[in-house]
Amino acid sequence: MARYSGPVCRLCRRENQKLFLKGDRCYTEKCAFERRGYPPGQHGQGRIKFSEYGLQLREKQKIKRMYGLVETQFRNLFEEAERNKGITGSNLVSMLERRLDNFAYRAGLANSRAEARHLVRHGHFYVNGKRVNIPSFMVNKGDLISIKEKSRDKTVVRYALEAVKRREVPQWIELDAAQFSAKVRDLPSRDDVTAPMEERLVVELYSK
Ligand code: SF4
Repeated sequence: MARYSGPVCRLCRRENQKLFLKGDRCYTEKCAFERRGYPPGQHGQGRIKFSEYGLQLREKQKIKRMYGLVETQFRNLFEEAERNKGITGSNLVSMLERRLDNFAYRAGLANSRAEARHLVRHGHFYVNGKRVNIPSFMVNKGDLISIKEKSRDKTVVRYALEAVKRREVPQWIELDAAQFSAKVRDLPSRDDVTAPMEERLVVELYSK
């Protein structure tokens, strides 16, 4: 699966919103979006008018990029959200939040989703005492996610736990920084996600 490996700040500028892809840097004045909050390219500063389809497409791209997924993964998740009971859009957001890489980032055990994915892949995380190296693994209510004992001295881990003090850990996560672990207090609901996103547009796009 081809994953985007270009400059990530460009993605925020393209989607006209901070996607928080670079961890702690996103909260400083070094953020590229703070300095140049307009789309990249020659016509970036011009007026862009989107069609209905264009709006739906941009919203889908934005959410997909925010969570660091490729199209197939995102589409598969959407189809699963559609099969589940309830509102498809809310199901989709909840499932994106429950991914292990996202959980690790939200809890403050990693500085960004990309970093979390890397750490998960390399086996630094345990779920209920068992090693899990699948970033798309879905956490469940009551699960305890911890960092492998030998990995706790890693600079990236210590830095992440320091950096999380500058942002808010969501209510559905209970972080225990001293134990290098976090618990799923409750499954995330749509209201737990404060980042601006209109999942309704994604549903409309994929329902065409
Ligand atoms: Fe986006 Fe973060 Fe880069 Fe700012 S620093 S443009 S929020 S990735």
